[in-house]
Amino acid sequence: MKCFYHPDQDAVAQCVDCQKGLCTACAKRYDIIICEPCNKARARKRISYYAKPFYITAILYVLVYYICVKNALPADETYMHAYMFSSLFIGWRITSRILEYFVIVGGCFFWLLMFFGIMFVGAMALPVYLPYCLFQIIRALRH
Ligand SMILES: [Zn+2]
Ligand SMILES: [Zn+2]
Repeated sequence: MKCFYHPDQDAVAQCVDCQKGLCTACAKRYDIIICEPCNKARARKRISYYAKPFYITAILYVLVYYICVKNALPADETYMHAYMFSSLFIGWRITSRILEYFVIVGGCFFWLLMFFGIMFVGAMALPVYLPYCLFQIIRALRH
């Protein structure tokens, strides 16, 4: 096989992304064995991945800000709501990454974490939820 970019040179390796043959000079260009167009494509992907939080956060911020202003909310509440809601995308991305990591690293650890998470939510809700259940039972008995 010959180098895809230098037909006069023998290929010594293949691009990890497109599998095209690469000569010694082409193969040594980057840290990994990758051709120039594929390396550029990877860089473009990386840029769009890291640019996304900026514009999604900005869109959410403007949207919530607009809704708050429309409803004549005080300025401090408007900024608070806009900030909280605009952080949703970043929060989701981080959380899903962490969960993915735990699932990969060890299923047991993930379920243990879930167990404690569920327990924590239950412990917080219990003093309110149990009287609520009692109230519902009493209400049902009356009918
Ligand atoms: Zn390639
Ligand atoms: Zn080459």
